[in-house]
Amino acid sequence: MLKVEHLTKMFGGLAAVNDVSVKFEAGKINAIIGPNGAGKSTFFNLISGLYQPTSGRILLDGVDVTNMPSDKVARLGVGRTFQTTNLFEQATVLDNLIVGHRLRTRSGLWDVLINSKRLQREEKAARDKAQEALEFVELGHVADQFIADITQEERKRVAFALALATDPKIVLLDEPAAGVNPEETESFAALMRKMVDRGLTVCLIEHKMDMIMNLADKIMVLDHGEKIAEGTPEEVRNNPVVIEAYLGG
Ligand code: ADP
Ligand code: MG
Repeated sequence: MLKVEHLTKMFGGLAAVNDVSVKFEAGKINAIIGPNGAGKSTFFNLISGLYQPTSGRILLDGVDVTNMPSDKVARLGVGRTFQTTNLFEQATVLDNLIVGHRLRTRSGLWDVLINSKRLQREEKAARDKAQEALEFVELGHVADQFIADITQEERKRVAFALALATDPKIVLLDEPAAGVNPEETESFAALMRKMVDRGLTVCLIEHKMDMIMNLADKIMVLDHGEKIAEGTPEEVRNNPVVIEAYLGG
């Protein structure tokens, strides 16, 4: 599904991602863990085409997507959430999804704003996709409410829907359950299982260890930009290198 080879991203003298090679299998929940600053979000930014790698390759279903712009990567089937999602407060949930879809799959502002025949045709499809994504995350009932009027937990679900509305094969979720209570965390976990049941591949950055250990099929551990371990939750939990670097014994 997703194969990364010797991926490196330098910021000046800092190797935020350092020679990482990994494979994520289709139809699985793949997790990335590691301390703050380990390079997890940078790794997602590289895969989704927001950052250009300093070196290395990214292959999506065998297609080389290294150095492709993010709109093209999105159209090829990579959806994502961000650690913080900027939403238009005075627009409805549904309109946020439609605009979000355009922003993610168009290359420039002109392309986003232009009201060509083609876009009008696509508008209906985008609206249907958005509605479908909202139903999936169980937000169909707030489609016509303003973002300003929905709860924190519902905002996080909107972020999921944004990732799903571009019709992805793989979704990259950057700490989707940060700051939510245990009950909501469980409902987010259920949502990820539902994604996999529908044939999606999930790639998840998360700090909540209980959640990861119960949910992930495979875990990659990053530390200072380097992959220090990977394996099943069981393998990672018992790996002395991981215990020392991250779990703190
Ligand atoms: P994580 O998500 O694991 O907490 P990040 O990927 O956000 O870590 O950051 C990894 C390192 O790269 C950090 O030291 C961070 O300061 C640095 N970094 C991330 N993005 C940039 C950027 N755009 N410019 C410079 N340094 C960055
Ligand atoms: Mg991060």
